[in-house]
Amino acid sequence: MSYDPDNIFAQILDGRLPSAPIDQDDHTISFADINPQAPQHHLVIPRGAYKDLTDFADQASDAELANWVRALARVAKKTGIASDGYRVIVNTGKNGGQEVPHLHGHVLGGAPLGAMLSRKT
Ligand code: 5GP
Repeated sequence: MSYDPDNIFAQILDGRLPSAPIDQDDHTISFADINPQAPQHHLVIPRGAYKDLTDFADQASDAELANWVRALARVAKKTGIASDGYRVIVNTGKNGGQEVPHLHGHVLGGAPLGAMLSRKT
């Protein structure tokens, strides 16, 4: 499946939808999740058109890869959750539960987050 240029995060990136960035650099932009699952829940996305982590790992430049990883940790620091610990989640594809087909890392914290997964089967 190719990249969908009309996905929600593509629209945020090109200004079709508004956003309130909490962090940005040449290769990334970060903003609060619209439906937070923890006291702090932020999304870190690359500016490039990558549909998921596999696509990003295959196609992104070293600078894009490095900036995205650094942005994940920087957002945790900026939002005050790094010192007590936080969780980064990257849902990928159908079985990973990915809903928006533009790579995004969830940065969650602000309280104990419990078990990593609840077993479904
Ligand atoms: P996924 O399930 O794809 O890993 O996560 C998609 C995330 O995007 C969800 O946590 C959802 O709440 C968030 N989201 C969906 N639409 C918007 C939006 O328009 N703005 C923001 N800030 N977050 C969104």
